Amino acid sequence: MVGVIAPGLTTAEAAERRAHAGPNRMPASKRPSVFRRLLGEFVHFFALLLWVAAVLAFFADLPQLSIAIVGVIVLNAVFAAAQQARADKAADRLREMLPARVAVWRDGRRQVIEAEDVVVDDVLLLESGDRVPADAIVLSENRLLVDSSMLTGESEAGGVAAEEPLFAGTFVVEGDARARVIAIGPDTRLAGIARLTTTVTKPDTPLTRGLRGVVRLTALIAVGMGVLFLLISLLVGNSIQNAFVFAIGVTVALVPEGLLPTVTLSLAWGSERMAKRQILVRKLEAVETLGSTTFICTDKTGTLTRNQMTVVEAWTPAGSLSIDGAGYGSAARLTWSADATDAAADADAAARAMRALARAGERCSTGYAEEVDGTWRTHGDPMEAALDAFARRLDVDTAEDRRLDSDALRFPFDPRLRRMAVVLADRIVVKGAPDTVLPLCGDDPAAHRAVDALTARGLRVLAIAEGPRNGPTPHTQAECERGLRLLGLVALEDPPRDDISDALQACRRAGIRVAMVTGDHPVTAAAIADQVGLRTSDAPVLIGAELPADDQHLAAVIDHDGVVIARVSPEDKLRIARALRSRGHVVAMTGDGVNDAPALHEADIGVAMGLSGTDVAREAADLVLLDDSFASIVAGVEQGRATFVNIRRFLTYHLTDNVAELTPFVVWALSGGQFPLALGVLQIIALDLGTDTVSAVALGAEPPAKHLLDGPPVGGRLMNGTVLRRAFGVLGPLEAGLSLLAFVVSFMALGWQVGTPFPDGHDLMAASGAAFMTVVFAQAANAFACRSSSVWPGKLGWGTNRLLVVAVAAALAFSMLLLFVPPVADLLGQASPPFWGWVVAVASAPILLAVDAADKRVRAGRPQAHATGGMGPRSA
Ligand code: ADP
Ligand code: MG
Repeated sequence: MVGVIAPGLTTAEAAERRAHAGPNRMPASKRPSVFRRLLGEFVHFFALLLWVAAVLAFFADLPQLSIAIVGVIVLNAVFAAAQQARADKAADRLREMLPARVAVWRDGRRQVIEAEDVVVDDVLLLESGDRVPADAIVLSENRLLVDSSMLTGESEAGGVAAEEPLFAGTFVVEGDARARVIAIGPDTRLAGIARLTTTVTKPDTPLTRGLRGVVRLTALIAVGMGVLFLLISLLVGNSIQNAFVFAIGVTVALVPEGLLPTVTLSLAWGSERMAKRQILVRKLEAVETLGSTTFICTDKTGTLTRNQMTVVEAWTPAGSLSIDGAGYGSAARLTWSADATDAAADADAAARAMRALARAGERCSTGYAEEVDGTWRTHGDPMEAALDAFARRLDVDTAEDRRLDSDALRFPFDPRLRRMAVVLADRIVVKGAPDTVLPLCGDDPAAHRAVDALTARGLRVLAIAEGPRNGPTPHTQAECERGLRLLGLVALEDPPRDDISDALQACRRAGIRVAMVTGDHPVTAAAIADQVGLRTSDAPVLIGAELPADDQHLAAVIDHDGVVIARVSPEDKLRIARALRSRGHVVAMTGDGVNDAPALHEADIGVAMGLSGTDVAREAADLVLLDDSFASIVAGVEQGRATFVNIRRFLTYHLTDNVAELTPFVVWALSGGQFPLALGVLQIIALDLGTDTVSAVALGAEPPAKHLLDGPPVGGRLMNGTVLRRAFGVLGPLEAGLSLLAFVVSFMALGWQVGTPFPDGHDLMAASGAAFMTVVFAQAANAFACRSSSVWPGKLGWGTNRLLVVAVAAALAFSMLLLFVPPVADLLGQASPPFWGWVVAVASAPILLAVDAADKRVRAGRPQAHATGGMGPRSA
C-alpha cells in the first residue's frame, strides 16, 4: 500500500521545515531594473526622433530649443517609466490573487494546501490538470502523462514512471501520481532555467501592434510635415535657422510621445477594476479585447449553475428513489417510488440494489465531502462529493471505503469517452454519461426511459455499472469494460445561479450572442438553458458528434444567439471557436479541463475558472473568473468597453491639442510668412507637457459610463470615425480658431489696425501669450468634453473624475507660471496678454463646451445614433 511506503509528513514537521527553508516560491522573474527601463525610454522610436530634433536645433545655433527638447525627452521618459512601473505593480497584485493550491498527504490524510507551503519530503497527490509545484520523485503512478514543454520545449506529453523525477512547472495531463518532493523554490530545475533566461521577450499582441501602427503613422506624418514646412519656410525666404525652428516645431507638435505608456496604464487600471469584480486578467490586452467581444461560448456546470450538486433521484432496475436533502450532509428524506414497495420482498431487493448503486458510485469517485466544524466541505469534484453524500444517506461507510480503495487503479474521466473506470480489489466499476455506459450493458429500454424522464427535468444523469474482477489487471479502459452489468442511474440537481438571467439580458442588449457549450446531455443542457433564459425560441440544440464537418457550414449553423451545443468534446470546442472567428466574431470561450487548452488559446478570450478549473486551463486562459460565474464575464465585457472608450477619449483629447498647435504654422506658411507665428516651438512643447500628459492619464482613469452594455460591441480601430471627426472636424479647428482669434484681438487691443504690418517685440509676445492661454483654457474644457462623446459633461457631474479635476487645475497653474515668471515667459516668447486677449482666452472654455454640447445634441438626433442607443459605446 502506498500509505505504508509514503507516510508523508505531519503538519508539525511541515511547519518546521517551512520555517526553516522558507516558502516554495520561484525567485521573482527579473524585470529590467528601473535604470534600464529609463534608459529604454531614452532610445525608443519617439525619443530618437526628438533627439534628432535636439541635435538639429543645437547645430542651428538654437541652444534653448535644443535644451527644451531634451527636457521633453527626459520628462517623457520619467513619466513613461513611472506609468510602466505602476502597470507592473498592478500585474503583480493580480498574480497574487490566485494562489496555486495542491493536494498533499499529511497527517495520514489528503489535505489541500497552498503551493507556497509545500516543503521537501511532502507527498504530493497529483491529478490530471495539476501543475507540479516542486521537483519530486514519483512514488506511485496511474497512467501518468506529463507535459514538460515549458521546461524542455517538447510538445508531446510523456509518461513518467515510479522512481523517476517530476519537475516543477510541468503539468499532469493524464492519470494521477503520488510523488515525494525533493526540491522547492529556487532549488528547482525551473528556477535554474529561469535564471539562465533573464530577459523574456513576449510576442506582440494585436493591441500593441495596432497602437504601434497608429503611433508610427502619426510620427511619419509629423516628420513629413516637418520636412514640408522646412521647404515652405525656405521658399518664403526665411533664414535656414528659422526654417529649422519651424520644421522642428511642427514635428514636436505632432509626435504623440505619451500615448503608449498612457494606454498601458489605462489597461492596468481596467484590469484592477476587473479584479474587484472577481475577474483576473492574465494578459493586459485582454481588457481591451474583452470589450469587443461579440460571442460568448459558456459551459454550463459551475458557470451558469452553482456547481452545488445533489443526487435527487436514483434508479435501479429493481426500483427508484427520490432523495430530499440539502447540501452534502448525511441526513435526507428518502421516498421510494410506489412500484418498488408493493411487496416486502421487492422492497428489500430494491433497497439492496440501491445501496449497491450508491456504494459503487462512491467507490469509483475520488471527490468527497467532509464535516469540519459542523459544515460539510467538498473535496475534489462536487459531483463526486454528491455521490459520497448519496452513499452516506444510504448508510454506506464511505470513509472506510475510501481507505480501502485508496490505491485502486483508476482510468480517470475521459471527456471524449465521457466515462471512467476503477479497478477495485473485488470488482470493476464504470461510471459515465448514460449514452456511453448503457450500450456497454446491453441497452436496457427501461433504463433509457428513465434517462429521458430525468434529463427532461434538467438533471445531470450518470450511469453506473460494474464488472467482474477476474484474470490479470486490465491495462486499458476497454479491458475494464467487459461483462458490465448496469447497477442503475443517479440524477443530480445543480441549481442555476441567481444572477444569470440578468447577465444574459445584458448580453442581449449589448448585442453579444451567447451559446451554451457543454459536455452534458442535450436534454439536460436544453432544460437548464431554458431555466436561465439562455435559449431563444428559434435557437437549435446541437450535438457535438453531429456538427457539420465543413467549417463554413458549421459556422453558419452555430452563429445564433441562444444556441445549445451538447455532448461536445474538447476538439469540438476548438472547431467552434475557430468557426465563429472565421465569421468575424470576437469569441470568448470558457474551459476548465486539461484538454480545453487549445480551444482557450484559439478563442480571442480564453476564460478559465478560478474555483473549479484545472491549472492547465488557467495557464492557457487570458482571463480567470475567481467566482466561476457567467455574470463575471459580462461584467468583464463592460469593463473592457470602458477601457476601450477611455483610450479613445484621450486620443481625441490629444489630437485636438495637436490641431491647435499645428494651425499657427499652417497659417503662417499659407500667408507666406506675412501673418506672424502665433505659437512658437517652445510654447508648443510647454503645452504638450503642461496640459496634455496628466490630463490624458486622468481621462484613462475615467470610471465606466453607465449604459455601456446598451449598445453593440465597441471594437474596430482605436482611431475610429468619431475620434477623427471630433478631433479634426470639430474640437481641433474650433480650438485653433479661438487661439488665432485671441492672437488677433490682442494685436487690435494693442493698437494694430487691419491692413498695417503686424507689430513685433513685446506686442507680439503679449498676443502670443493670449493664443497660448486660449489653448490652455480650451484644453481644460476639452478634457471635460472628452469624458464622453455623447453626453454633456455637466450631466456626468463635473467632479466625478476627481483625478481630472486635479489634473486640469495643475495644468492651469502650470501655464500661469509659464506666463508670469519673467525668465520662463521670455524664453517661451510670451507675455501677459491685454485685457481683451484674456477675455477671448477665458471665454474659449465655455465656447468649446457649448459647441461640443451642440455637436453632441445634433448627433444624438441622427437616426443611426438612436439605433446604437444614443449613448452606446460606439458613440462614446
Ligand atoms: P459540463 O459541460 O456540464 O461540465 P462535462 O464535460 O464535465 O460537462 O461532462 C459531460 C458528461 O460526462 C456529464 O454529463 C456526465 O454524464 C459525465 N461525467 C462528467 N464528469 C464525470 C465523472 N467525474 N465521472 C463520470 N462521468 C462524468
Ligand atoms: Mg465539466
